[in-house]
Amino acid sequence: MADCSYHPGKDAVGACVSCGKMVCLACRTELQEKVYCQPCANKLFVAKTEAQPAKVETAPVQTGVSGAWWLLVILPFFFGGWSWIGGLIAWAATKSRDPKKAHSMLIWGIVLSVISVVITIIFIALLTLGYLSIEGMEFE
Ligand SMILES: [Zn+2]
Ligand SMILES: [Zn+2]
Repeated sequence: MADCSYHPGKDAVGACVSCGKMVCLACRTELQEKVYCQPCANKLFVAKTEAQPAKVETAPVQTGVSGAWWLLVILPFFFGGWSWIGGLIAWAATKSRDPKKAHSMLIWGIVLSVISVVITIIFIALLTLGYLSIEGMEFE
């Protein structure tokens, strides 16, 4: 086996797919299941981060809204189905900082409310039609 191109005397374990130089265990870098030497991996990493400057700029805005607001939308679903109120509150509180997230919380609040109303209607319908029976309750 050949020696590492960067560390003479060390056995190479593979070759860089980019420049073809031999690499040892210490300087072998795997990116997306391909083997690179360290200089090539660094070059790829720099190229990648420079290619998306717009995303880096918007990142602080995205982190300005806490994920805890989702609890306002999801928790009410299990306690009476007033998710749309929670969604409305979460939307009003977060829309200036993260309109996209605020919008999706409002939509989910409404969707969860509709789901719980539908479940309630189906449940009552099944009860009145006699498909379900709860002890002590008569619907006839
Ligand atoms: Zn290389
Ligand atoms: Zn090496």
